[in-house]
Amino acid sequence: MSGRATATAGAAVDPRLFCRGDLPAAELVIRAVHVLDPRAGLDEQRDILIRDGRIAELAAPGTVAAPAGAATVDGAGKHAFPAFVDPHVHLRTPGQEYEEDLDTGTSAAAAGGFCALIAMPNTDPVVDETPVLGALVAAARRQARVPTGFLAAITRGLRGQQLTEMAALRDAGALGFSDDGKPVASAGILRRALQYQRLSGGVIALHEEDPELSGSGVMHEGAVSARLGMAGIPSISESTMVARDAALARNENARVHFQHLSCSESVEALAAARAHGARVSGEATPHHLALTDDVVRTLDSRFKMNPPLRAEADRRALIEAVRSGVIECIASDHAPHAREQKEVPFEQAPMGTIGLETAFPALFTELALSGELELELIVERMTAGGALYGLPIPRIAPDEPANLTLVDLDAQFEVGAAGYASRSSNCCFHGRTLHGRVELTVAAGRLAFQSAALARELLGAA
Ligand SMILES: [Zn+2]
Ligand SMILES: [Zn+2]
Repeated sequence: MSGRATATAGAAVDPRLFCRGDLPAAELVIRAVHVLDPRAGLDEQRDILIRDGRIAELAAPGTVAAPAGAATVDGAGKHAFPAFVDPHVHLRTPGQEYEEDLDTGTSAAAAGGFCALIAMPNTDPVVDETPVLGALVAAARRQARVPTGFLAAITRGLRGQQLTEMAALRDAGALGFSDDGKPVASAGILRRALQYQRLSGGVIALHEEDPELSGSGVMHEGAVSARLGMAGIPSISESTMVARDAALARNENARVHFQHLSCSESVEALAAARAHGARVSGEATPHHLALTDDVVRTLDSRFKMNPPLRAEADRRALIEAVRSGVIECIASDHAPHAREQKEVPFEQAPMGTIGLETAFPALFTELALSGELELELIVERMTAGGALYGLPIPRIAPDEPANLTLVDLDAQFEVGAAGYASRSSNCCFHGRTLHGRVELTVAAGRLAFQSAALARELLGAA
């Protein structure tokens, strides 16, 4: 594919996100591809010309001329979507690069069709001071293949006791704040953070769980945990904190986002708060939308995450909330762990699953093909995650920055059979056959990913 680098391609990167400047600008024509952009009301065949970092032309099939030097991709039988945006990933850097780093994490994102992602600050050291954030931004400019934004911690060391210097962290580039991995257990501390938000701006994103109610639980508290004799994490551990913090947000007129909601009680609390005018939003993960605690019977530690996979009624409530817009975005909560840490008995394993490479295929296979959620809704919710931090939503329209992914919905693959782009392999969909293979990702005008099959096709054509 063309390696012509252009100065204008850089202009397609939002200034609040950071990535390498040396990736080649994509210069290609995708012919006769089925373009699906729900926000544009576009659901038909088009030719797409990508040039100088933007969608230069979007026209009827067979009408776009390929400029000299541009590669041509046969889009027949394939879909082009606006590329996905993930508002919740763990890139494990600084400090745990044996699990993931900016290069491998953003490679996994590109392979999953993402054009932007937002990394959580629960690293080692924690992103709770401006020098840590500054070093991370500099590293992203050298290593990130996909534009990446960062949240900073709400409290120092995620200890829940002392607020970070939120205004200074915002000035240094933080999109918002989260103690993800841990709840802000103290209502008083969170209230002060919400008050500081008036000065600093930036959304406060919350991992909701009451430590006393979660206790030493390792899975959802319900029939399966009782059968297995395992300590459970009850749904009210999450939902009581959602209700509490939505009330605090409303009282302070603050902007709060609830991360990885997992149960029907939380959906009810979020909907009620929204109905009363609270400025709150929520996200759900592919694993909570596609799986239940039933799979934990296998005792496979890939199914251990926090919040835990819950009951079928919870899964159905989450799907309904995604459909209605009570939950407006989907986030992977991509959480890499080293193999030796996960290959231990279920109770002792760390919580988390990787998810960037499987997010779309899992949702398409488990929800769209089964008729539980329409493809357009999946695309819309998978592209909405940056908007809550004020980032633009990717669009397939003339003159927009080129952020799109080419997907073969008919292609099947076994998850993990060809390895992972992520440095870790703790994927809860490992071994499943999924439909919807990502063939190509253009992020901010740059060619971020192409599948081996597509690379062969282009080589054959050259
Ligand atoms: Zn979390
Ligand atoms: Zn997380």
